[in-house]
Amino acid sequence: MKKALCALLALCASSAVFAATPWQKISHPIPGSAQSIGAFSNGCIVGAQALPLNDDAYQVMRTDQRRYFGHPDLVRFIQRLSGETHRLGMGTVLVGDMGMPAGGRFNGGHASHQTGLDVDIFLQLPKTRWSAAQLLKPQALDLVARDGKSVVPSLWKPEIGGLIKLAALDDEVTRIFVNPAIKQQLCLDAGPDRDWLRKVRPWFQHRAHMHVRLRCPADSLECEEQAPPPPGDGCGEELQSWFIPAKPGGQAPVKKAPPPPPPSCQALLDEHVL
Ligand SMILES: [Zn+2]
Repeated sequence: MKKALCALLALCASSAVFAATPWQKISHPIPGSAQSIGAFSNGCIVGAQALPLNDDAYQVMRTDQRRYFGHPDLVRFIQRLSGETHRLGMGTVLVGDMGMPAGGRFNGGHASHQTGLDVDIFLQLPKTRWSAAQLLKPQALDLVARDGKSVVPSLWKPEIGGLIKLAALDDEVTRIFVNPAIKQQLCLDAGPDRDWLRKVRPWFQHRAHMHVRLRCPADSLECEEQAPPPPGDGCGEELQSWFIPAKPGGQAPVKKAPPPPPPSCQALLDEHVL
């Protein structure tokens, strides 16, 4: 009945915004040697690996969402970063979304995370392990003051800056997205050693987590690399431009329909999704 009504009134098409994308129907990685394909915001992955869910150095949040898949490089990066953090006694790394088993587009929330090379990591480092219930419904810690111009001093801790710096110093990391207020705090705290700040990019939201992006793996020939960030530490004019209020009556961003996936990703969909 519902189906008939849908067809008749074409009403259900309007719910397509919230409908699962075909990528969400793929429940296991596509077998094969690991290949990240396409762009971070329009791509997919063959041969993704699941991040091991039990580890002393990190904890994985919202495992019920099954977004803990990525290129083996990403799995190794998370293990490397959290191993170092653990070794330095900074606390436990809280891992958020990576990608789906075959990567691809989500039905909301993320534009990127499609090629198995992006991961969200909470900007808090608990000294004690979180319970299973806490991990399923994680409490994000909003580090940014209400006016958006600075971090909340009582919540900001040097370890958070240390975690971001450790990630930025990793050779395979190309970009880290954080809120402009967080980037500004890093700019204030950094001493003469500032090269790593170039990779830390101000972006909307990202008030409680950082989004880390790795370079295309050398043998992923269809992976589209982004241009490197502009030279310099990015602490000057570019950062300040984020704190200038938008002009009233300014153009609202136009919502465009997502582009079709690259041919190799479409071929995966044709083969694996009915
Ligand atoms: Zn992200």
